[in-house]
Amino acid sequence: MRITALAGGIGGARFLRGLRAAVSPSDEITVIGNTGDDIHLYGLKVCPDLDTVMYTLGDGIHEEQGWGRRDETWSIKEEMKAYGVGPEWFGLGDRDFATHLVRTQMIDAGYPLSAVTEALCTRWKPGVRLLPMSDDRVETHVRITDADGPRVVHFQEYWVRLHAAVDAEAIIPVGADAAKPAPGVLEAIAGADLVLLPPSNPVVSIGSILAVPGIREAVAGASAPVVGLSPIVGGAPVRGMADKVLAAVGVETSAAAVAEHYGSRASGGLLDGWLVDTSDAAAVAAVEAAGIVCRAVPLLMTDLDAAAEMARAALELAAEVAK
Ligand code: GDP
Ligand code: CA
Repeated sequence: MRITALAGGIGGARFLRGLRAAVSPSDEITVIGNTGDDIHLYGLKVCPDLDTVMYTLGDGIHEEQGWGRRDETWSIKEEMKAYGVGPEWFGLGDRDFATHLVRTQMIDAGYPLSAVTEALCTRWKPGVRLLPMSDDRVETHVRITDADGPRVVHFQEYWVRLHAAVDAEAIIPVGADAAKPAPGVLEAIAGADLVLLPPSNPVVSIGSILAVPGIREAVAGASAPVVGLSPIVGGAPVRGMADKVLAAVGVETSAAAVAEHYGSRASGGLLDGWLVDTSDAAAVAAVEAAGIVCRAVPLLMTDLDAAAEMARAALELAAEVAK
């Protein structure tokens, strides 16, 4: 079985770890990772979502935090601060720095991000083939209005520095329209037996991936069933501020509204099947009325077993919609 999943950071990574545990070792999983969150800091290229997937599946993640390395130390950041060089608001630990140094060194030597990601994964052995959505630079920006007036900030500044405390007025994936899918991305979608949309942020994770020309069309036209899992449980994101970016694209923060935002494949959208949490069972009828087969199952990734159980439910739903 060949499974292809689109993924952001923590929600995607935790789900994928459950998926890896739920399927047989001979099943191939390809992950198309979001690079819209990427940022250049201290002259280094940082890819937060690719690294979260790599560290989580490679058993190097800081588990409670959900990003960055376990057993991290912060000497470099402190030394930079002593020089008055920031940004102070972005957490880059010493171990993590090494990843960004290797990545930047390879990019400067002319390797595309996809080749760099493959090289980094030879160390981490995540058990999946991890592909960036594109080798081209795409950066999600957010339009806001605050005390400084109307302006556009990098997504990381909006999310990490401003904690999404001001409303997002628009989400702009800068560079996406001119970007090409990375090598292997379209083939992985077209050749899959199952396409999954994990419970990642629908706007700034999955939405950024879909903004790369050709990827949305490939998912919509895949011969395999497409099944997604809701990141919204009980009308709120399980973690983070996804409600802020959903509002920016005019989507209500509910499991049903996110499904309708992705749309039914029967009417040009992306989904054949959608899983909502048991607490959202009342949403099933609305999702099915939109032409998407929907089931309510527990969707909280409290541990690896819970995430694996969610993956099994997605596989079952895929088998059902494939009939
Ligand atoms: P990010 O790039 O680190 O923000 O990660 P993703 O985009 O992959 O995932 C973020 C989303 O994961 C958030 O909108 C959360 O609501 C969702 N999420 C986190 N933990 C869980 C969980 O246990 N269950 C579900 N259903 N969603 C979760
Ligand atoms: Ca992210």
